[in-house]
This record gives sequence, structure tokens and C-alpha cells, in this order.
Amino acid sequence: MRKSGLCLSGLYMECAGEYGHYVEWREKSIGRKRKSIAAFVLAAVLGIVAVNPMAVRMNQAKAVVSQTSGTALAGGVSEEPLRLVSRDSEPKISGVPMGTLIKETGDILVVLDPGHGGEDEGCSSEGVEEKALNLQIALRVQSRLLEMGYQVRLTRETDIVRTLEERVQAANQAGADIYVSIHQNASEEKDVEGIEVWYSGQNEGAESERLSRVIQKYVVESTGARARELQENEELFVIRECTMPACLIETGFLSNRAERGKLAGSGYQEQLAEGIARGIDVYFHPRTMYLTFDDGPSDANTNRILDILKARGIHAAFFLIGENVEKHPETAKRIAAEGHTIGIHCYRHDYEALYDSVESYIADFEKAQAVVRDVTGVETKLFRFPGGSINGWNKQVHDQIAEEMAKRGCIYYDWNASLEDAVSNPKAEKLIANGVSSTLGRKKVIMLAHDVIGETGLCLEELLDQLPEYEMELLTEDVEPIQF
Ligand SMILES: [Zn+2]
Ligand SMILES: [Zn+2]
Repeated sequence: MRKSGLCLSGLYMECAGEYGHYVEWREKSIGRKRKSIAAFVLAAVLGIVAVNPMAVRMNQAKAVVSQTSGTALAGGVSEEPLRLVSRDSEPKISGVPMGTLIKETGDILVVLDPGHGGEDEGCSSEGVEEKALNLQIALRVQSRLLEMGYQVRLTRETDIVRTLEERVQAANQAGADIYVSIHQNASEEKDVEGIEVWYSGQNEGAESERLSRVIQKYVVESTGARARELQENEELFVIRECTMPACLIETGFLSNRAERGKLAGSGYQEQLAEGIARGIDVYFHPRTMYLTFDDGPSDANTNRILDILKARGIHAAFFLIGENVEKHPETAKRIAAEGHTIGIHCYRHDYEALYDSVESYIADFEKAQAVVRDVTGVETKLFRFPGGSINGWNKQVHDQIAEEMAKRGCIYYDWNASLEDAVSNPKAEKLIANGVSSTLGRKKVIMLAHDVIGETGLCLEELLDQLPEYEMELLTEDVEPIQF
């Protein structure tokens, strides 16, 4: 059995490999790479390939030298046999010139890339060859995507050699919307298992990451396999050189006996295909989430949250407490300046006093509105009832308050998912689980969180990573409210 790093050779690093061994095999591959470069130069001297200075500069001929178990190169430069792939003829896919593979208008074109093929079997173990599994899984994904109305192209549909350059060209020239490369993993540690997805930060970084996360999430859900950490890597040729969001999924470890058995079976392959296809579909049709934060602003916590939102280019809604705006005016101004929505929560967060009567509620609301206006300059029509629109304190007065507020043109927003972070001693891990589970896969979610809670800021990044199927949008008065 060979390690995954050797499935195509360290030269290409097409197969991502179990991360624990990544550095190790990468180091080993350096020696091999030098030999390959020497082989390439020798070949050029012999006139087997034309030396393209650009190609040499760009990662030393990776596009033209394929290291496989094929024909040995005369001269014995490499210990391992080499086979040269000419770039002279126009690359083709399934006999069709690539130029004809242009996306049809209005369609979404997915390019699936079953790794390896032909003499390059990828990693293998106990007679199970990676190249065969990659193709079987890709064909299953293709048939599901076609049923869902996507246009799909495979970089190979049979057991043939494709250079990495051909694979990438196929996607780029066809105008593909995404590129998904399918591989199998291997490790020297026999018990290592699970699904690993790789992307390049250089190629549509944020979108490639979202694609990777959403595919990993649905494949793990459909198979029950272990989710391995997402990997960003700039050296995997195919996902780096594509001009559209791309990822490479290693659907399991051939070195793990139990996982190998599953991977070779049609039932498990169908589960994998279902997860990949669903992930792709959700990538193109993300669900909508409106992040909302109550009870702020606070100093450190709100600013931590604002930093995260800014770094990710996300906007949220903050339902402010007038008293806290007076305490932290700079933070309130920052919320407004960075384009988030400001709503009114109350002036003083005292349920009993607030819900004593319609008048007491309105007086508190107007005071909060005035403070927010004075400090931030924002005149807002959005508000949220402390405790939600219907709660134990306002049963008697809720209808009248709602009526009075509607007359003023104000709209209130409750929520349909929550971190449940307004509890004593909240723990980040629990808040994330609450947030993820309470979405229930809904198409539209208004998420309740509290920016005064330290753990909420601490868990926000992880929470967002775990919700790749949602696009975070700005709550405005045009959004149909969720009301209890
Ligand atoms: Zn591979
Ligand atoms: Zn509150």
C-alpha cells in the first residue's frame, strides 16, 4: 500500500493526504521532485517536450510531467518510472474537444473531477484502487445532480489518464461554476478515518471555503463518517488553478480496513454521492439567516463581535438598550458606522416596570429611541420586545402595545432560533450546539443572541463555520418579520 502523498506523487500533491503525514511525505517528495525536474530537463534536451520557461517557473513542469507507474524514461534519472504527457495535441474529454464544453446559458455547470485514472491508480490497498472508487462516486454524484437540474461534466468518464492541466482547463474553458475533485485518502496509521476537504485560499478563498464546508457537512450527515478538519492548502494544483470556487474531497481512508470496506460498497457510495450532491445544491441555494444581538452594547464583547462580523463581511441587527448606549456610546456609533441594523430593545431592561401598562412601555420605548437617535443618528422602526413579544410579564398589555406600536409604523421581530445564551454561566460549546440545532434546517432563520455575553463572542466564529448552508443577511424593515 502506498501513502496518499504518493498517490500521484509528491510532485503534484494532487491527493491531499492525512494531515498528520502531510509534512512528512512532503519532505520525502522534495527529493523525488528534484529527480523529476532533472528528468524533465533531460527530456527537454532530448526534444521529447518543448521547454516552456513559464511552465518551468511555475512549479517546475508540474503540468507536463506525470509520475506514474508507466514507461520508464531512458537515462534512469529517477528511481521511479516516469511517463511524459505531451501537451501538443488539444486536450480532450471523452473524445469531445474541450472547446465545445461551454456552459449553457442560465444553467449551473458543475465539473466533477474523479482523481487519477489509467496507469495512475492513486493510492490502493488490498486490491481496492483509488482511481476506480473516485470514478464510481463521481458518476453517482453526476446522476443525482442531473436529476436536480444541474449541468455536469466529468474530467474523465472512463479509466483513462488525464493530466492535471487538462482537468483544470476543462473546467476553466467550459465556464464551470464550481469544481469538485474526488479522491481517497491513506495513512500509515491504520485506524485513521474520516472525510477531509481541501481548498485553496488563493482561488476564490471565501467561496471555496464555503463550498468545502457545506459539502463536508452534508457528506458527514449522509454517511455518519468522522469529519476531519478542513484544510487550506496552496499546493494542490487542481483546486488552486481553477478559476471558479473549487474543493477536493477525500471521501475516506483506504488504509483503514473498515472504511475501505464501506467505500467499496455501492450503498455507502450512494450515501457519499447524496451528501456531495446535497452540499453542492445548498451551496448554490443557501438558506438565509439574520443574526440579531440583544441587550447591548457592551464594550469588549460587542467589539469582539463587530470585529468578527467585519472580517467576514457580515452584517447583523443589534437591538439596543438605551442605558447601555449611554454607557458605551462609541460602540453604539461603531455599530451604525459599520452598516449594521440598529433596533430598539428598551431603555431599561426591567420587565415589571416596562410591562406595567401601555403607557409605561411607550414611555420607555420613546426614551430609548431618543438616546439611540442622539448618539448614533439612526432613526429606526425596528424593535424587539424584551423577553419576546409574548411573555409572562406582558400578557395583559401585549395586544394594546403591539397595536400602538403598529400605529407608529414600528415593526417587531421575534426569533425562530436561539443560542440560549441568556442563561447563567453559559458555555461556548453548548451555545454553538443550541444555535445549530435550533435552526432545524429552516430556509429563513432569525437567530437570537446577546452581545453582552462574553461566551457569545467567543463562540461566534465556530458557530458561523458550522452554518455554511446559511447566508447571513442584513435585517431591515423590508424583511417579513417572525412574530410569536
Ligand atoms: Zn488521490
Ligand atoms: Zn433582552
